[in-house]
Amino acid sequence: MKSAFHFVCLCFALAPLSQNPIAADEYLNGIKWEPPAIITVGDNGVPSDAIVLFDGTDLSSWENADNWEVEAGAMISGKGDVRTKESFGDCQLHIEWSAPTPPKGSGQGRGNSGIFLMNNYEIQVLDSYDNETYFDGQAGAIYKQTPPQVNATRPPGEWNVYDIIWTAPRFNEDGTLQSPAFITALHNGVLILNHFQLKGDTPFTRPPQYNKHADRMPIRLQDHGNPVSFRNIWIREIKDAQGEQEREPFLRNGKGEERPIESE
Ligand code: MG
Repeated sequence: MKSAFHFVCLCFALAPLSQNPIAADEYLNGIKWEPPAIITVGDNGVPSDAIVLFDGTDLSSWENADNWEVEAGAMISGKGDVRTKESFGDCQLHIEWSAPTPPKGSGQGRGNSGIFLMNNYEIQVLDSYDNETYFDGQAGAIYKQTPPQVNATRPPGEWNVYDIIWTAPRFNEDGTLQSPAFITALHNGVLILNHFQLKGDTPFTRPPQYNKHADRMPIRLQDHGNPVSFRNIWIREIKDAQGEQEREPFLRNGKGEERPIESE
C-alpha cells in the first residue's frame, strides 16, 4: 500500500518533466543583443581590457607624483595627493595597499590614505588592524557615511586588496542630482560595501553633498602624512550589456509559429 502511494506521488512529481520540451512555447524577449566582448585574464590577474594605472615600475599615469616614490614594485605615498591623468566614470577598480610597518601612531594617524573615486568620494585606506577609530572612518568606510560591513584588514606590512565597482552619479543640466553614486567593494575578497548609495562627497568638515561635476573624473590617492604603499592598480570602464528592442516580447511554439504575449 505504502509503495503504491509513493508510486502515484512519483508520477505526479515527474509529470512536468515528461512533457516534450520542444512542444512547450518558448519565451523570447525581442531584444537583439550585441555580442559581449571576449576578455582574457593574464597570469597577473589583469583583464585584457583593463587600463593599468600602476604596474610596479613608474608613475607615468599619475599627476603630482614628484614626491611619491617607487620602491620594490610599490608606489609610496609622499607629499601631496596624486591623481590619474585619465578620467573615469563607471568603473571596476582593483588596487592593493599596505600600511607602514612597524605601525606608528593610532586612530586616524596610523596608515591613513584614501582612494577618492571621481576625485570626490573617499573609500578609506587605514591601518585598521587592531587600531580603534570611529567606525565610519576605518578601512573600507565611505568616509563619514558608512563603516564597512566587516573589518577584513590584514596586519601592517601585508597587502590588502580592494576590488571596487563604482556607479558614477548623474547630474541634470541645472546641476541637480539625477541619480546618486553607488559603490560595491570587496576587501581581500570579502564583501564590505554592497551597492551602497552615497549621500554625496566625503569631506571632513561638513555633511556630504553632491556638486555637479564632469561625467568622468580622475582617481585620487590621498597623502595623509603616512607612507602607505600601493601596487597592482588597474581599472576597467564598465557599461551594461548593449541591446536593441527590435520587437515586442513573444512566444514561439515547436513548429516555429509565433504569437504575442497576451496580458492577463
Ligand atoms: Mg583617508
